[in-house]
Amino acid sequence: MLPRRYDNPRCDLSELRQRLGVRYVVYERRPIHGETVWGQRGPVVQVRDGRHHQRRNMTLAHEFAHVLFDPVFNPAALHSTIRDTFDERVALSQGIIAEDASVLDAVINRIGLEKLCDELAFELLFPAKWALKLASSATDLTSVVSVAHRFDVSLTLATIRLNEATGDRRSLLQLRPTCVGDWVVAETVRPPRGWSEGVRLSMESSRMIGSLAWTGHPLWREISTQKRPERLLGVDLLRRQEMAVGFYFEQLGPGPRSATPTPS
Ligand SMILES: [Zn+2]
Repeated sequence: MLPRRYDNPRCDLSELRQRLGVRYVVYERRPIHGETVWGQRGPVVQVRDGRHHQRRNMTLAHEFAHVLFDPVFNPAALHSTIRDTFDERVALSQGIIAEDASVLDAVINRIGLEKLCDELAFELLFPAKWALKLASSATDLTSVVSVAHRFDVSLTLATIRLNEATGDRRSLLQLRPTCVGDWVVAETVRPPRGWSEGVRLSMESSRMIGSLAWTGHPLWREISTQKRPERLLGVDLLRRQEMAVGFYFEQLGPGPRSATPTPS
């Protein structure tokens, strides 16, 4: 059973850390997001010290997944386990293998260990059953922002999980100004058709975004690209410091499934 706080359905990472026997978590400036090193006194999790704690939590959860799975694929990691958690870790590893080794093998062969660790991290931070429960009402930027706040995850992670839950297309566009002042799509989650990273906005859309006030409430606006300025896309827009976020919803999936599990 994953440790969860009574008032929050997400996993309690500090308790999970204790249960996994991770004595050392080191935050430091480093080029990669995170790494787990198996030392004399057990696993040492190293996390990049960045600005956003949601990103740090994602890295931490991903590395905890490594602590969980690494011994299964790399038995040598077990021998670096500290004495007082050794038996527990051996039992845990054997438990994972005994559960159904062929399933785990198939998953690893299909998606790889890094993706498996990402999947577990997503599940720890924003459980799939909650994404399914909340997806039907999270169809605009305000509600997705509030879901992200509730689970204390990034807007990107919230959008990915909600999309996975029902198969709908929630497009998240991270917009940034270039040095010459026009705006481009810097990053996307499931972009609308014809949009991708690096797309430049039309002159009118660039001007409009540049003149938007920074408010906490998204505004509905139509934007278009330089390539197809006549084709307008109605999005929720949120202006932040040196960036803006655009959100577009398209229902593609069958809608909420009838047998919606009730998260406890
Ligand atoms: Zn990894």
